[in-house]
Order: sequence, then structure tokens, then C-alpha cells
Amino acid sequence: MKINEKQLELVNKQLRRIMESGNYYSEVYRKAGITEVTSPEEFEKIPFTDKADLRNAYPLGIQAVPDEEVVRIHSSSGTTGKPVIIPYTAKDVEDWATMFARCYEIAGITSRDRIQITPGYGLWTAGIGFQAGCEKLGAMAIPMGPGNTEKQLQMMVDLKSTVICATSSYALLLAEEINKRGLKNEISLKKGVIGSERWSEAKRNYIANELGIELYDIYGLTEIYGPGIGINCPGHTGMHIFDDYLYTEIIDPVTLEVLPDGEEGEIVITTLVKEGAPLIRFRTHDLSRIIPEECSCGRHYPRLATIKGRSDDMFKVHGVNMFPSQVEEVLGLVDGVSSEYKIDIAHDESRNRDIIMVTAEAEGRVDFASTAEEIKKLFKSRLNVTPKVTIVSINTLPRSEKKTRRVFDHRGD
Ligand code: ZN
Repeated sequence: MKINEKQLELVNKQLRRIMESGNYYSEVYRKAGITEVTSPEEFEKIPFTDKADLRNAYPLGIQAVPDEEVVRIHSSSGTTGKPVIIPYTAKDVEDWATMFARCYEIAGITSRDRIQITPGYGLWTAGIGFQAGCEKLGAMAIPMGPGNTEKQLQMMVDLKSTVICATSSYALLLAEEINKRGLKNEISLKKGVIGSERWSEAKRNYIANELGIELYDIYGLTEIYGPGIGINCPGHTGMHIFDDYLYTEIIDPVTLEVLPDGEEGEIVITTLVKEGAPLIRFRTHDLSRIIPEECSCGRHYPRLATIKGRSDDMFKVHGVNMFPSQVEEVLGLVDGVSSEYKIDIAHDESRNRDIIMVTAEAEGRVDFASTAEEIKKLFKSRLNVTPKVTIVSINTLPRSEKKTRRVFDHRGD
């Protein structure tokens, strides 16, 4: 779906705002000779923005409004270097809450619901986004933040929470605890709104069954408001993204070409009305595809398929691109193996070849040695690489409350 007239008009407004502000990107665009775009083709020539640039602009270099209009900042930490600071105006905060309330509504959540919010509050956008959307909807927020499982379960039972908001990893942990303590009949949960990252069907089914809930993937990232810019509808065939606020493209993460609808690649987002920190063609490094068909629910917002992982986690061994989703598919075929994994890639100088090491988790009931052998054979037959496989017990690998990085490339070390 190419950018439409209305969206182009909004992009031009964003460009004018940026140029007038004299912010970091006004310099970038001035140097690139960009002042206005009049067609989808011209739009696609605007250089990408990326987290690395945002770090260069630390702390407030991307601010595009006068100080008195900024009401809040959020920050994303990332794994290395300086954090990224995103300033918000009152309208940005309001727009974000409106989108988030829309997400809850699409999931069938109403003002009668009680929403237990476990993502973190503070500099990170998560908790406060879930909360603002909940209040906008008129539902009851139970603002827990992460951790303290005892208290979480107590509140869930005593306050009869009907909705749980969490990362998939934390939802899994809660489901495991509820199972362990036999609390299933004492909870009133009906729906889960899960911060979208790559998670397997096995994990999804376990959480849905243990908690007896319907699961919704919510999408978002700090640089683009935060979570709540899209969610899947009851048809569960992809996440609707709000194209009155955002324009979404999919690009090939290697060649950087825009891909046609339906093809898998990296999500790139343009904010259409953001004031505090407008971003044009921001590379999210999340992998997905645009689902071209109309949705059965009748909503016309474009749809993104479930996130397939991070383009940073895409790796090349012997010249072949591999996606994290392929690794998960292999692991999903092996009995007793969880969906968590870690991959290390190194280069053996003496033999001049890449070595790939897979660490996977297995339940105690299966034999670790034969499970490792089975995974090794599946990698060979399906992905044409032969890894060294290490099996560890379930819950050994980290369950992160944020997007988990699973692939570590040591070849440049
Ligand atoms: Zn739909």
C-alpha cells in the first residue's frame, strides 16, 4: 500500500515542523536537499531514521517544538551506549492514549474491565501507556508494574482482574506460577494484552490454556509513542496499525528497498502528526509483513503479521540469511523443548569457517543428549547448517521483560 495523498500532506507538515525547529533532522534533510515530497516515489527517497541517529542527537536534539510545549520525556535504553530521549507534547500524550484506548476496544475490552498492568513504569513507555489507554477507555487500572509475583497473584485474585497486560515472558512466568499453585479457578482473567515480540505458538497456547484467556498482541516502540499503535482484532489474523497517525512500510533490511505488501522484511514507520519528536521512515528493526487482504472484521486499518523477530537477530551463516522464526520453527518440532533459545556465532580462524552454537531448553523428562542430536539433524536438513547444540533445563535462559535479544554474533570480536 503506497502512501496516500492525505498522508503525504501530513508528511509535508512534519517536514515543515522539523525544518522550522532547526533540530537534528533539519540538518540531515537540509544536506539531503529535502524540503517537500509530492509523490510516493519522492517519499521513498527520504533517508531512513534509525536508533543510532537518535543517540547522536542525545539528549534532546530531535525535539521539534519549543521547551514550553514539552510535557514529558520517555527513554529507551537499548543494549549499548547512550539512551534515546523522546520528548512528548500534550497532544502527543493525548494521541497515544487515544490509540491505546482504540487497541483495548478492538480487543473487546470495555469500561467494565479491570486491567492489571505489569509492564514497567518510569522512563520506559510501557506501563504508563497501558495506564493512559485504560483510563481513556474508562476501565479500572491496577498499576502493578513488573515483578513481585506474590502481590501480582494476590491482586489478581482479590480484585478479580479481567485483563492482564504483560510481556509474553512475564505472562508465561505468571501462568507457570498459577499452574504451580493451583490458582486457575480463583482468577477471573478473560483477556491478555501482550507486548509484541516474537513468541512461539507453543508459548501462546500454554499461556492461553493455563490462564483460560484470549490473547492479543499489542505493538509499539518508545521512539514511536510506545506500545499501543496497533493490535490484533478478534479475527486474530494480524495487527491493525492506525494509519491516521502512522504510515508503515516494509523494507528489505539488507538492500533497504521497499518491499511489496505480503513480503517479509523490516517494519519502517513514519509518524504523521507527532509534534515533540517527529520521525520520518524510522527503522524499527522488527520483522513482519503487511497482510494485503481486507480483514474479516471490516476495519480498514492496514495489518501487520505477528512480529517474526528482530532484523538484528537475522544472521548470515555461509552467506545465507537466517531468520529467528526459522530457528523457532525447528525447535517447535522437538518434543519437550521450550521456545526460548540463544544462538552464538563465531569464526574458527584455523579452519576458516563459521561455527554456530545453539543453546535450547528442554524439560527434565526428555533425554538431553538425544534431544541435542535431534535439533542438530533438523538444523542440517532444514537450514543447511550444522550447529553445536547445548541443552539446558527449562527456565535457565533469561526471560526478559523487554524485547529479548537471542542471537549473538562474535565474528567481529
Ligand atoms: Zn480485523
